[in-house]
Amino acid sequence: MAYVKVSGKKGGRKMAFSVRMKPLDVPIYEPGKPIAEIRERYGLDAVIKLASNENPYGPSPKVQEALLARLSADPELWLRYPDGAARELKRALSLRWGHPAEGIAVGAGADELIQLIALRFLADGDEAVMGELSFPMYPIATRIAGGVPIPVPMGPEGRLDLPAMLRAIGPRTRIVWLANPNNPTGTVFDRERWAAFLAEVPETVLVVLDEAYAEYVSDPNYPDGPAAVRRHPNVVVLRTFSKAYGLAGFRIGYALAAPEVVRELERVRKPFNTSAVAQLAATLALEDEAHVAFVREANRKARAALRQALEARGFRPYPSETNFLYLPHDDGRGLATRLEAAGVIVRPVPGGIRVSVGTEAENARLLAALDALEGRRR
Ligand SMILES: *Cc1c(COP(=O)(O)O)cnc(C)c1O
Repeated sequence: MAYVKVSGKKGGRKMAFSVRMKPLDVPIYEPGKPIAEIRERYGLDAVIKLASNENPYGPSPKVQEALLARLSADPELWLRYPDGAARELKRALSLRWGHPAEGIAVGAGADELIQLIALRFLADGDEAVMGELSFPMYPIATRIAGGVPIPVPMGPEGRLDLPAMLRAIGPRTRIVWLANPNNPTGTVFDRERWAAFLAEVPETVLVVLDEAYAEYVSDPNYPDGPAAVRRHPNVVVLRTFSKAYGLAGFRIGYALAAPEVVRELERVRKPFNTSAVAQLAATLALEDEAHVAFVREANRKARAALRQALEARGFRPYPSETNFLYLPHDDGRGLATRLEAAGVIVRPVPGGIRVSVGTEAENARLLAALDALEGRRR
């Protein structure tokens, strides 16, 4: 336990309380800035956000229509507590993946599942291995659960170095966090590297394979995560409706895992962690795979064009299988702040910035803002 003192100003409150661990040991997640915040701060009308990898094409119009119809026709959806077990969504996911419903956990975004996994699988002082430049929720969730993050340096072009991650596993390691594709670098590891990793990783270590961007991947050597779950009971695959499905506002994602693993996650899940509306939206979204295919293709084209335009301006984006690009830069935070003042929100990340691939118009805005900065040195 750690003590926190709140020192009041003259005559103000004074108090001291105890928290589970020292405040600085629990880093705070820094989300992409909301459009409204930047509009207000700089007095701008037109602000675009390329900072949180949301889907610029939006959700399927069919899903929107069906969801709105259900919401107006069915007040039960409003007044009843949701089905905490998300049976309907799990049934649809079970059919989609040929995976038993008992092996599916549903959470308020993959984020919540990351936290549930850390809470249930880590005890104080247990270690969790992760890429040094990977999804910030891994070290945060690990810390919150009392665990110790073990960051492993990245390989070339921001790739996860799986052999080095294997070597980082020690007697206290309980979890390895792997994002494939990786965020914020956008890179993937292939089947061969994944198979070699699985052959070596101890079965006592939970391998969390976060596939938040899987729908965007076109690399034919991308590993089949869900198939690995069937062969290895220590593998958990995370998926989300926030990215390619365009439902980030609803907060819903899921895990495919062994039923034994799901049972343990259920112990720490709040009874009504996902809303009825989110469950319904996700269930409907699974019926329109054509929309996901459209999004994947539109993104692939827009990403290639944006990459080319950025390269022409001297940037060297990492290879990406996602809807974002990682641009190495020696002052990422400064560049992000200057772009923000021009009404373009991007994400400063260690060693550079990360820009989401937007619509053609949004990408043009980004490029124009970069060109305007160019005169004054980026
Ligand atoms: C966006 C993202 C998630 C979380 O998404 P949710 O909105 O919480 O479902 C998880 N992992 C990675 C790598 C992400 O980029």
